[in-house]
Amino acid sequence: MLSQRVRRILVEKDARDYPMTRRVLARLPGVPVEMILDRETLRRAGPDRAAWLAAAKTTLLLAVQKGPFQRPCPGTKDYICCGYQVLQVTVNCPMDCTYCVLQGYINTPALTIFVNVKDLLEELETRWAAEPDRLWRLGTGEFGDSLALDSLMGLNERLIPRFAGQRRAILEIKSKWPQLERLLPFGPNPQVIFAWSLNPPGLISGEERLAASLERRLNAASQAAAAGFRLAFHFDPLIYFPGWEDAYQRTVERLGAAVPPQAIAWISLGGLRFLPPLRQLILRRFPTSRIAAQEMVLAPDGKLRYFRNLRVEMYARLREWLNQAVPGALVYLCMESPRVWHEVFGFTPEAKALSHLLDGRVVPAH
Ligand code: SF4
Repeated sequence: MLSQRVRRILVEKDARDYPMTRRVLARLPGVPVEMILDRETLRRAGPDRAAWLAAAKTTLLLAVQKGPFQRPCPGTKDYICCGYQVLQVTVNCPMDCTYCVLQGYINTPALTIFVNVKDLLEELETRWAAEPDRLWRLGTGEFGDSLALDSLMGLNERLIPRFAGQRRAILEIKSKWPQLERLLPFGPNPQVIFAWSLNPPGLISGEERLAASLERRLNAASQAAAAGFRLAFHFDPLIYFPGWEDAYQRTVERLGAAVPPQAIAWISLGGLRFLPPLRQLILRRFPTSRIAAQEMVLAPDGKLRYFRNLRVEMYARLREWLNQAVPGALVYLCMESPRVWHEVFGFTPEAKALSHLLDGRVVPAH
């Protein structure tokens, strides 16, 4: 259990009296607890990001979300966006992937859990009521991992039933963690999509520290499908290394053998990308990692990416293997340029067309 790695708990003054706070503290007996005024005091964590990031993986912060929980996914200018909405229920995650973009993003040196769940549920109801004709594709796995802390939080047990009666709201529970047994009795529920990001086993063991093996992720996906949930998969980040073709092809074949294609709502592909300062951070934190040394180019969105030809080749091969292994599954590119789309698929989605394509997979008539 990842939560057993927690060595220290910080509780914001305003977060003390929430049921979620009591629940988490009851599940971590013996872990030292400190009360703090608020998390702003922690933001003076010091300039040595590499040093405090490690400690941030074993420090849990229980805090109150004061801003909106729901935010549009921070897409990239001039790159095609899928219209996803992020639910910020946690920030940071106990796993430690070498490429994790949160390393450059988070300012609070802790795993943050927002405890005001009632506010979250009320916010969702208000938004849905205000725009009843809109379809919402929402996910909790952008600023953290949707399952890694769920045995502590119990949040999915409360969220999943809320989506059961909603024909116009979809929840994507995105993870690299396999424990979902507690959630299976909440199926069938086609409004909920369990999603795993996938990579070949060698990359998982080298670059995705503490994350579940490919086999455990695929077993969990098979269990979710059998319980009546939909599935999604994200080959993101796709990572280049000598021998990538064979490794990714085998991974796709294992996916095809593990789950029924008709249960899959969508599969995304996204090449490794990150803002330039992350490269030094990766080299410092993970000196044996193979990813930061690869040749990359500064793209128009300010991120380092593989050269376009390599990205196109990787996407096209993955698409070909996926078409064979999981026929009929919708494959799309996450945050890619119109030109790359065209070279891989032979067309470029118009503005909002990708969003409508994904919506159509989960709500046939809208
Ligand atoms: S599982 Fe996701 S959030 Fe957690 S470290 Fe890896 S990339 Fe980051």
